[in-house]
Amino acid sequence: MTPPHIPHTTLRLVLGDQLNPLHSWFAQPQPHVVLVLMELRQETDYVLHHAQKVLGIFAAMRDFARHLKAQGHRVRYVAIDDPSNRQSLTANLDALIAHYNAQCVQWQAPDEWRLDQQLTHWASVQPFECQAVDTEHFYTPRDECARLFGTRKQWLMEHFYRGLRRRHQVLMNPDGQPEGEQWNFDHDNRKPWRGSPPEPADPRPTHDHSALWATIKAAGVKTFGNPQAEAYRWPLNRAESLALLQAFVTHALPHFGDFEDAMATGRIRLFHSLLSFSLNTKMLQPQEAVQAAEAAYRSGHAPLPAVEGFIRQILGWREYVRGVYWAHMPGYTEVNALNHQRQLPSWFWTGDTRMACMKQAVGQSLEHAYAHHIQRLMVIGNFALLAGLNPTELHHWYLGVYIDAFEWVEAPNTLGMSQFADGGRLATKPYAASASYIGRMSDHCQGCAYSAKIKTGTGTGKDAGKEACPFNALYWDFFLRHAERLRPNVRLALVYRQLEKMSPAETEALQAQAQANLARIDTL
Ligand code: FAD
Ligand code: SF4
Repeated sequence: MTPPHIPHTTLRLVLGDQLNPLHSWFAQPQPHVVLVLMELRQETDYVLHHAQKVLGIFAAMRDFARHLKAQGHRVRYVAIDDPSNRQSLTANLDALIAHYNAQCVQWQAPDEWRLDQQLTHWASVQPFECQAVDTEHFYTPRDECARLFGTRKQWLMEHFYRGLRRRHQVLMNPDGQPEGEQWNFDHDNRKPWRGSPPEPADPRPTHDHSALWATIKAAGVKTFGNPQAEAYRWPLNRAESLALLQAFVTHALPHFGDFEDAMATGRIRLFHSLLSFSLNTKMLQPQEAVQAAEAAYRSGHAPLPAVEGFIRQILGWREYVRGVYWAHMPGYTEVNALNHQRQLPSWFWTGDTRMACMKQAVGQSLEHAYAHHIQRLMVIGNFALLAGLNPTELHHWYLGVYIDAFEWVEAPNTLGMSQFADGGRLATKPYAASASYIGRMSDHCQGCAYSAKIKTGTGTGKDAGKEACPFNALYWDFFLRHAERLRPNVRLALVYRQLEKMSPAETEALQAQAQANLARIDTL
């Protein structure tokens, strides 16, 4: 009699940003499958991370493992302090294969090139079957952008986004036209916020992760930022992520568009969704966020510019930057087209600066592991660009500080969009602005030690004794320094026309002021 076929044990690796309970792997427990989750020094240490990022991912992984076990799955959870933990993904896999006598290892394709390479190289020398499967999360495959744009010099997000709107019938009319006869409502979405409507209450529950934090510290993991071990507020699982989405759609989405670019002292999110951590760890699917927003428009709860603006971030930018990342890796994380070499000032680690806008943006990043898009782009990133900070160092800072930072999304945003370090592959012009932009979009300048109105020297009248805002001289100095590269860009014609109107004495004074600012950058 032939013995019944007993399948060999299969190990299925679930990475810390793959906590998607809807993945087909988890539809049904299978006795021959062991689901493996690991907390690794390899992952905590590749850059210095914010304490809340390490806490948030480990806490969510632990919760996910509990959920899978409760569903009847076999789960092997390798905790950070597990004596058998070799702290490397592949060294642990080697040990687990031996332990379970496994004959097959499967993983969901990593979103980061670093991990993808590590697993691919490891698999190439294994004597048994290794297989990568899809994460079943994104709208587009990794190589969609590369296939769409090929060797074109200029890649345009808008083109990519419109194609996805059509393909997935998002905000489209029955006659095949975009809802509202317009693809993009960006121009309507640029209002400053002056205290009304009120910022919705933070809907996130608190979590006491103090025991986990003690374990992380005892394991020797180095972090920065506030661990907020007693009042941690990032979603732990899919249920909390769905509740956050629901609260956003109900209370914040109707105003998301108007105040998408606004900033205010003491307000960390205004009408932003705080969903990036849930999305990037895959606790929440992008389709769920897009559909919830579209439903709010169709039911009359939220206006079209707000809904289109929000959907463009997820269906457009999020998918697009992932495509850019995979099209240009390896190498993209080392780009430095403007040859910027200055070290990050010390207050990037303390928030201790007299510039009110930077104090708010850097301070809340250290406190909450979060800043919204305009703070990341037009305050912190803008300063870094104008001051010529080293893009690699800055990339490591962004990758470490934000709860939602994973290289596939962080690197194109930091190096491409914010620092123009890729020479313009992602952005058609540098996102550079002087104090007038920050003054228009926020209340920061009113309470600042510097005067937004002047470019050099010290102020008079109401601003008597205040020094000129560093952003101003740095702004003009940036365009003077990079004139050879940037002057031919038609989108910068206005900037260079303004510079041409200045006298040599004026431009020299601006350059001298910029140099003086840079010489004391640690005490600005
Ligand atoms: P909302 O403003 O509510 O937007 C909704 C969702 O849209 C976000 O959750 C996010 O998933 C998506 N989204 C919005 N803008 C972008 C964008 N430019 N690229 C990709 N997705 C976007 N986003 C990350 O998820 N991880 C990062 O590491 C990251 N680093 C950034 C670094 C810089 C320098 C800049 C300028 C932007 C970065 N972004 C990053 C994009 C964006 O700032 C964040 O997604 C957003 O601030 C997250 O907050 P939220 O969930 O409240 O977003
Ligand atoms: Fe920022 Fe300058 Fe305004 Fe101060 S004056 S808040 S430094 S832009």
